[in-house]
Amino acid sequence: MEDWLKSDNLVIEKGDGIYLYDTDGNKYIDGVSSLWVNVYGHRKKEIDKAISDQLKKISHSTLLGLANVPSILLAKELIKVAPKRLKKVFYSDNGATSVEIALKMAYQYWQHKGLKNKTKFIALKESYHGDTIGSVSVGGIKLFHNIFKPLLFDAYFAYENIEKIIEDHHNEVAAVIMEPLVQGAGGIIVQPKGFLKKVRNLCTKYKVLLIADEVAVGFGRTGKMFACDHEHISPDLMCVAKGLTGGYLPVAATLATNEIFKAFLGTGKTFYHGHTYTGNPLGCAAALATLKLFKKEKLLKKLQPKIKLLAKELEKFKTNGEVKEIRQCGLIAGIELNQKASEACLLARKYGLIIRPLGNVIVIMPPFAISNLQLKKMLQIIYKVILP
Ligand SMILES: *Cc1c(COP(=O)(O)O)cnc(C)c1O
Repeated sequence: MEDWLKSDNLVIEKGDGIYLYDTDGNKYIDGVSSLWVNVYGHRKKEIDKAISDQLKKISHSTLLGLANVPSILLAKELIKVAPKRLKKVFYSDNGATSVEIALKMAYQYWQHKGLKNKTKFIALKESYHGDTIGSVSVGGIKLFHNIFKPLLFDAYFAYENIEKIIEDHHNEVAAVIMEPLVQGAGGIIVQPKGFLKKVRNLCTKYKVLLIADEVAVGFGRTGKMFACDHEHISPDLMCVAKGLTGGYLPVAATLATNEIFKAFLGTGKTFYHGHTYTGNPLGCAAALATLKLFKKEKLLKKLQPKIKLLAKELEKFKTNGEVKEIRQCGLIAGIELNQKASEACLLARKYGLIIRPLGNVIVIMPPFAISNLQLKKMLQIIYKVILP
């Protein structure tokens, strides 16, 4: 807030395609996809229409004890595209809540199974799963999470030693939670090939559930529908949010296997968790339109050349003395500098680009609708602003 109060506050008034417009009429490339959520750009005709059509029917009705039409249709579509063991959908309204639900479900699952000691969680170092207390408990970013330590439940944090941690503690562990392939807020940390599959196999071997937090990487961001698809694995629980509604409205979901679903059937086995706006019809209508467009516009196919172009453009940064490391996976990249990246990101605004830093890392997360030319322009601006 101190920095915000001192700075020229940028106020966004409009959006169109990949561009944002401020209240003075200046135009910017939305280089962070409005915090990693935007897919087809702003004011996408089909999504706008889906929401206004739904508006004429109903804007909200509760999912507590009732169902609504868009949430049913969306659940069906989600199951079609999700990793194959996932068969059931539990709605909520943001990434953090979808994680809370997965954690509580995993814990309660083992209680119903009679393995009452399985109460703990394993997370990855530098992990980020949201800002509510449960998701912070499995968060590994000191800057964000350390001060809340006294409020949190215990978790084990692992990375290279994950096999040993699972082996030593599986009797007391309900689940491993991880961001598959890329740890986003931790600084765009790309995992070695095969790591996800290895964790999946360890979870199966030691009877620990695997929660995949696909909130950031889901819906095409890595070049496949879900990050889990790269290593052909199915988690037991999967969290999705951000890109689900095309970046329009807050809807999230926690997907589960039939095995987990069944463990909650019967007297005294209720899962007590419900958010007021869960499965909101307007949001679900936006998500349905988003998923429909994936197919209609052959989005995943169209993404591939853009991913290659991004890799090629990033090559140019390798000789830049300010750059420490470059990491990319799909249409996500991080350029790690030898110093804080905040000044470079602020300067980029003068050239018509909105980007955000994570510590020393410049995050590149454009909407999928970005053209080759616009992507090149975006990287040219970044190149300019990281030179001292
Ligand atoms: C953004 C994010 C979350 C939290 O989502 P919110 O909608 O901001 O609560 C959780 N997990 C990951 C991996 C994220 O990137």
